[in-house]
Amino acid sequence: LLIYYNGEFVTKENATVSIYDHGFLYGDGVFEGIRAYNGRVFKLQEHVDRLYDSAKAIALEVPISKEEMSEAILETLRKNNLRDAYIRPIVSRGVGDLGLDPRKCPKPSIYIVSQEWGAMYGDLYEVGLKAITVGIRRNAPDALSPNIKSLNYLNNILAKIEANEKGGDEAIFLDQNGFISEGSGDNIFVIKNGKVYTPPTINNLKGITRATAIELLEERGYEVIVGNLGLFDMYTADEIFVTGTAAEAAPITKLDGRPIGDGSVGPITKAAVAAFEEVTGSTGTP
Ligand code: PLP
Repeated sequence: LLIYYNGEFVTKENATVSIYDHGFLYGDGVFEGIRAYNGRVFKLQEHVDRLYDSAKAIALEVPISKEEMSEAILETLRKNNLRDAYIRPIVSRGVGDLGLDPRKCPKPSIYIVSQEWGAMYGDLYEVGLKAITVGIRRNAPDALSPNIKSLNYLNNILAKIEANEKGGDEAIFLDQNGFISEGSGDNIFVIKNGKVYTPPTINNLKGITRATAIELLEERGYEVIVGNLGLFDMYTADEIFVTGTAAEAAPITKLDGRPIGDGSVGPITKAAVAAFEEVTGSTGTP
């Protein structure tokens, strides 16, 4: 497996990060998660745009152009002969010293890692995921904005640990005000009386799969309403599903031990999953 590192391709064994890289020391960097389906990279432009927006938000200047980044991503896939893959571009502040001042890091580091990948949740697309609302809250938009896909994923990790401990497949965050935010790695859709609801992206990552799902559902005649949601809306929903690059569109049939709707995967969720499979060519199986 070859990994892109600052313009060169190195083997997995040689792809090492300096202990002085501020991405490692401080989580000072940004990343993306991208999928390729059957040799086609899904929403490449959108992911590259978001990577550069994340970098800009932390005053990190990516040393190559967006076109060069896109080409490097495609080249990484070609070099590895990958057709169904997960691709992870990372831009870190680069190598500095032990102090946190980014001025000590003259050159950002770029890494692109890829691997073969199928649908993340296996059989769970049929029966639905068990989700847990966790005590840890999503970052406030005025601090480390959840819109930044940064290397600081500690609160997502803590959420996942909490969900794991409680037997959940995925964690659901509330934001600092108690509104529904997102999952640890995906956005949330709630269905009630035939209408689809999703939280505004002020308190969650501007998911590219989320935007795709909204588009696909609207094309199919469903009304999608963007607005704040509370726990009440979740517990009384007819259906819930999450969307993400890794998760694709995945149903949630149990939340905090309670069945959602009748506890089975509902019709609008099925339509969303099918629509997504149509545009990606994904079969839903690894
Ligand atoms: N929310 C978080 C915290 C994520 O890490 C991700 C994954 O990228 C998402 C949502 C879903 O975003 P996307 O659909 O762009 O992958």
